[in-house]
Amino acid sequence: MTTHLVWFRNDLRVNDNLALAAACRDPHARVVGLFIATPGQWRQHDMAPRQAEFIWQHVQSLSHALAQRGIELRVHEVADFNACAEYLKSFCEQQHIDALFYNYQYELNERQRDAAVEKALGRDVVCQGFDDSVLLPPGSVTTGNHEMYKVFTPFSKAFIKRLHEGLPECVPAPKAREITLPEPEILREFDYSRQPIDESLFPIGEQQAINQLRQFCRQPVADYEQQRDFPAIDGTSRLSAYLATGVLSPRQCLHRLLKEHPQALEGGSGSIWLNELIWREFYRHLLVAYPKLCRHQPFISWTDNVVWRQDESQFLAWQQGKTGFPIVDAAMRQLNTTGWMHNRLRMVVASFLVKDLLCDWRRGERYFMSQLIDGDLAANNGGWQWAASTGTDAAPYFRIFNPTTQGERFDAQGEFIRRWLPELTDVPDKYIHTPWVWAEKQQLKLDYPRPIVEHKQARIATLAAYEAARKS
Ligand code: FAD
Repeated sequence: MTTHLVWFRNDLRVNDNLALAAACRDPHARVVGLFIATPGQWRQHDMAPRQAEFIWQHVQSLSHALAQRGIELRVHEVADFNACAEYLKSFCEQQHIDALFYNYQYELNERQRDAAVEKALGRDVVCQGFDDSVLLPPGSVTTGNHEMYKVFTPFSKAFIKRLHEGLPECVPAPKAREITLPEPEILREFDYSRQPIDESLFPIGEQQAINQLRQFCRQPVADYEQQRDFPAIDGTSRLSAYLATGVLSPRQCLHRLLKEHPQALEGGSGSIWLNELIWREFYRHLLVAYPKLCRHQPFISWTDNVVWRQDESQFLAWQQGKTGFPIVDAAMRQLNTTGWMHNRLRMVVASFLVKDLLCDWRRGERYFMSQLIDGDLAANNGGWQWAASTGTDAAPYFRIFNPTTQGERFDAQGEFIRRWLPELTDVPDKYIHTPWVWAEKQQLKLDYPRPIVEHKQARIATLAAYEAARKS
């Protein structure tokens, strides 16, 4: 009998999983699943303990979903990526594997790992990879000169044109099968710290993610354009953790969106949310075109000459949400408490760290990865390089967010701020973005810091640092 192996990585689902569907196409083949935990690799890249928990829980639920389909999931742990090739070689020999099916990951280390695995398996095992975590394969949306777009808007237009030519199809989950499986060899524990998840925010399970997608596409997506920038409103999908770990696919998102909002591709209702899915694609396509991004090098080379300030107490204040700028602090506390932060606030706090504290954006990028349940190299690096003005299509370096006016615009009454900074509960709306002014007027001592920098001065210093780097 032929035996097919599906190597699960960032694709922890049975629905619309290209590698799984391909492995199950031959009804006579025996199909085995494998998930390899690599805690050494996770440590090296500071994966958030909440994301480790999210993955752990979804590996368990994947194992049940596969078992109902007559597929056994093995879960194994190796130190790091270097050990994967050797492990897979011996696994394939022991299990008499004829073919390996897997979905591509686009980060450089992951691609090198996969190349090493294919080499180790040689001709004994036929390997097939799939572009599963994207709507369109990297390298397939290019300029007339066959180059990757460096600016989002023309990429997005070309992308939508390609979608008009043909939508990527979803593939169904393998059919349920009554097969008695051996007792699953499930690993009892990852050798990696995990942190509990608030399941009211991130319910566990593939079906939960699908339900959340359906619910969001029914109505909230129509109001997305008006609501998405206001962190006090639950106006975005909160699907990022599922997309980052592959509990949900972007094709499922696209098809559900078009089912409820058929005009989304033509710029009608739902098109702004579609645009966010295309941002996700843009950053993934960029990783493949410019692998240096995976090494955290700036896209714009001269920005590497910026002389960053190394002020540990300021960095700590930013991490802990104690900068004295309420919108920044509320956002950081949301991140530290839940593992998620609203997109508008990710832009605000990233800009603050880089442009107000003149801190190297890579430190912020790393800290985000250590906290985010949806940590994703492409989106996170893209977001940080955008905010730091070091990336492709980034905000120009002289455009600097004012953290106080950002708060006034996007959380005018301070509803979000009060939710995360209980020490400001009694501050009147008028002063919620400048509580120190109120405290001085009232001659009160607030249990909240004064601003750690003066924004106008910081702006001038940052402009000078970028200018100097540009000229050097
Ligand atoms: P929605 O607004 O509902 O968007 C739907 C989906 O589109 C998201 O789930 C996400 O997969 C994708 N998406 C939305 N905005 C972006 C974007 N700007 N770039 C890429 N994809 C996007 N997103 C991550 O998934 N992981 C990260 O590690 C990450 N780090 C970021 C760091 C910074 C500094 C910035 C500015 C943004 C970052 N983002 C990241 C993008 C964005 O903030 C989140 O995807 C979004 O807030 C997730 O919430 P949501 O699922 O409700 O998004």
